[in-house]
Amino acid sequence: MQQRGTQAVHNALLRLGKREEAWRKQYIHTVANEIVSEAVEHDCDVIAFEDLSDIRERLPHAKWHHMWAFRRLYEYVEYKAPEQGVSVEQVEPNHTSQRCSRTDCGFTHEDNRHGEHFECQKCGYEVNADYNAAKNIGVRYARKQRHSLRSSPKSGSGDAQVDVRVNGGTVNGESYQPIAGD
Ligand SMILES: [Zn+2]
Repeated sequence: MQQRGTQAVHNALLRLGKREEAWRKQYIHTVANEIVSEAVEHDCDVIAFEDLSDIRERLPHAKWHHMWAFRRLYEYVEYKAPEQGVSVEQVEPNHTSQRCSRTDCGFTHEDNRHGEHFECQKCGYEVNADYNAAKNIGVRYARKQRHSLRSSPKSGSGDAQVDVRVNGGTVNGESYQPIAGD
């Protein structure tokens, strides 16, 4: 169509592009709403994201629309969550997809991840790769938070508890209790 180069064809392609963009925006809005609803449903105070500032360096082969989608999703959630009393925090993204999220393991190696599949080369833990990374992000936030609660002069006691919820399970950095779908 493009090679024929007529104005009508050009306009048709433009319309198609705009429709796709509108669809993508709508889809990301829907996902953002689902994330916020799930957080509210489970009484979460915080939604943790990887810090995506360096995503271009980390994902050199990622297509532009993947990067665009990640950023948009974060922006929508960051905008919508506070309306429901939930805050949004970012954690260091280093090795979240290569690290084994089992709390008694934590082995980190690039061979642990093969596309959508995660298999720990040390303990043999097998799970969906995005799910594994999400657990690492949650645990990383919980540890950071527990550390800052502990070093705060107001908190006094050293046993601050921070629970992490991932896809129906609970992680607190010490143990992981799957409720469903693990
Ligand atoms: Zn492991």
